[in-house]
Amino acid sequence: MISDDRIRSLAAHRGSPVVTSCYLDVDGRRHPRHVDYEHQLDYLVRQARERAGDLEPAAVASVEGDLGRISSFVKGGFDRSRVRGLAFFSCSAEGFFEVVESPLPVRNEIVLNHTPHVRQLESLAQTYDRFAVVLVDRQRARLFCFEQGELSERTELFDAVPRRHVQGGRSAANIQRHTDELAHKHLKHAGEVTFDEVGRNSIDHLILGGPHEVVSEFEALLHPYVKERVAARLSIMVTAAPEEVRQAALQVEHELARAAEEAMVDRLRDQVGAGSSGVAGLEPTLRALVERRVETLLVSDGYEAPGWRCPSCRWLAVKGRGCPVCGASMELVEDVVEQAVEEALANSCRVEVVRENADLDVLGRIGALLRF
Ligand SMILES: [Zn+2]
Repeated sequence: MISDDRIRSLAAHRGSPVVTSCYLDVDGRRHPRHVDYEHQLDYLVRQARERAGDLEPAAVASVEGDLGRISSFVKGGFDRSRVRGLAFFSCSAEGFFEVVESPLPVRNEIVLNHTPHVRQLESLAQTYDRFAVVLVDRQRARLFCFEQGELSERTELFDAVPRRHVQGGRSAANIQRHTDELAHKHLKHAGEVTFDEVGRNSIDHLILGGPHEVVSEFEALLHPYVKERVAARLSIMVTAAPEEVRQAALQVEHELARAAEEAMVDRLRDQVGAGSSGVAGLEPTLRALVERRVETLLVSDGYEAPGWRCPSCRWLAVKGRGCPVCGASMELVEDVVEQAVEEALANSCRVEVVRENADLDVLGRIGALLRF
């Protein structure tokens, strides 16, 4: 599981002499054969060796140890039906080694730094909300929970309802009414069970599936607290295989994440435009961050920029070398954007890593919604 606590503790970890962070895309849909992603890993290993070239001998040895450990994990095999991305954080000089198995794909990347490079992990973690999928028809209801790409079936209800009669006549109409009442009772029952599950498991979003008219009737019966969480209505039948349900939930999750990102960037653009509670561009964002005014940091996935960091007061800047706050001599950092993400996480700010959003690119690929 990729939990917020785990990311925060990784982001706060300082390794000496150096931490190797490696992300490897092992998605079976893009890399059907093992050799396909093993080649990618070889390429990343070469990149890391090149970058380690400038380091002191102890650091080079530590990186070699990291690369060896990462390679043997990858060659040792893992469950590819569930794992589409791997993230490694290693500092062999200190015996530090962590692997995160992701059910969503990652972008190949290898970074050597004093701390684990957590930005991709953060980006993955924020796509994880808790979903419930409820499939209904006039007799059955099945409830699934969906989280971090995994589906688990929680409850199955079966309320016996006689088949609808097809013959005409007065008694047939009575039987029909009786049958409809039973079906209505069944849906009401399913609604109550859903209410309990949503409350007990802190479900963020609900996906409903079944025949259109049954889903409409069911939705009308839901408690307002549950109803406002309905994110999608799909035509998946109650008998669907779990894998079909999982794929549908993945798709809904993806669409919701995109919509949420767009809304966040729109808010940033409006607030920056109005000149209140928003900043955009690297320099103003770094300033807001070190002044502890940031509520949410928005950053384009893959955006990197060199910059400066003050070792004594942690000031981050685009230009060096003298720290404008304490006067100390700042250190040049390869990627000040990653430093910004770590700083934001350390200060319990929300971090949104935004993928493919042209509006954020226009704003300078980084920005922040401010507390004040
Ligand atoms: Zn300083």
